[in-house]
Amino acid sequence: MNFDTNCLHAGYRPGNGEPRNIPIIQSTTFRYETSADMGKLFDLEASGYFYTRLQNPTSDMVAARLCALEGGTAAMLLSSGQAASFFSIFNIASAGDHIVSSSTIYGGTYNLFAVTMKRMGIEFTFIDPDCSEDELDAAFRPNTKALFGETIANPALTVLDIEKFARAAHAHGVPLIVDNTFATPALCRPFEWGADIVTHSTTKYLDGHAAAVGGAIVDSGNFDWTAHADKYPGLTTPDDSYHGVTYTERFGQGGAYVTKAVVQLMRDFGSTPAPMNAWLLGMGMETLPLRMAKHCANAQAVAQWLQTHEKVAWVRYAGLPGDKYYDLAQKYLPHGCCGVVSFGVKGGRAAAERFMAGLKLASIATHVADAKTCVLHPASATHRQMNDAELVAAGVSPDLVRLSVGIEDLDDLIADLGQALKQV
Ligand SMILES: *Cc1c(COP(=O)(O)O)cnc(C)c1O
Repeated sequence: MNFDTNCLHAGYRPGNGEPRNIPIIQSTTFRYETSADMGKLFDLEASGYFYTRLQNPTSDMVAARLCALEGGTAAMLLSSGQAASFFSIFNIASAGDHIVSSSTIYGGTYNLFAVTMKRMGIEFTFIDPDCSEDELDAAFRPNTKALFGETIANPALTVLDIEKFARAAHAHGVPLIVDNTFATPALCRPFEWGADIVTHSTTKYLDGHAAAVGGAIVDSGNFDWTAHADKYPGLTTPDDSYHGVTYTERFGQGGAYVTKAVVQLMRDFGSTPAPMNAWLLGMGMETLPLRMAKHCANAQAVAQWLQTHEKVAWVRYAGLPGDKYYDLAQKYLPHGCCGVVSFGVKGGRAAAERFMAGLKLASIATHVADAKTCVLHPASATHRQMNDAELVAAGVSPDLVRLSVGIEDLDDLIADLGQALKQV
């Protein structure tokens, strides 16, 4: 089936007389006839559900829908995007290992990597995503286990050269992990450009209605773990906690990574989405193509309008001819650059705050990428833990306003922005 059809039907096809919507299986546990039946599940010899901390049918149906949209071989849902970023790395790296990451990533991901995971003994090198291939190569070490970047970075709005990153990762025998939150598979499918693993904060466009925090990981099935078995012993050697199962042998190249993340990391960390939240995500994905088209059209028009406004110092939107990322966006995001636009109000930090206070329709929210327009000043909110040098490295200037353009009527949006800019 094609993309728009999969948004509605992938992951769940009801049988005769069955509910037309994905059923919400609101149950912690599942019943079995014999202990032997259940024992097979614990040894990973049979597949089935026993406890929702590890797996739940509603979550799995929704994960299968997202898997189809990204073109992957296996997928899992998590309770947040943060959990997805953490699991995606911790599934293949442990104390003593090293990761190379783009420096223009979401502030929460930066803190997770640079502070919390560093305390766990995993070192990160942050590189400018626009660096040369030689600079990228030089960041790798013998103990590097993955390369990480964001398709469209939140909030810097840099566009990742996925092919460049994939070449570097594969030259060093490691997978490329791409956070595809802002683009969604409606605008870019990173696997088509060589990425191996995709992560999401489903909290954003995939849910689309600011209803439920969630995350997801999708595996392309393209990375050959056994060809680099010495780097990934967790996938290629027996796991004693499951009677000596070797994930790559039992679940193959397409299933090993996600199975390990579910049966080890979900078991131990319990970052499980509620079935109700998984259901909300599945419902949101049904209208993803319609919403993304409107977000992109509105944002493109708003960005062009802002560019001509006398009180606006600069506008960053990769869909604007002349934007630093215009060419990369033409290649990787031909259908649009999502709804997020950033710009500077003339007069710096104080002017930006006055502008935001004057908005009537757009709400100030620590959120982006949902149906209703919202706006944020990252330097005083999501990125406030960073010093000025780190802010600059992350592509966030003190006057930056991040505008998440919703799917309201365009004239109403522009009228609101116009009256607020008048008050600056
Ligand atoms: C929001 C966000 C995250 C974190 O997701 P949560 O669902 O808030 O935990 C990760 N990456 C990107 C690009 C994000 O925008």
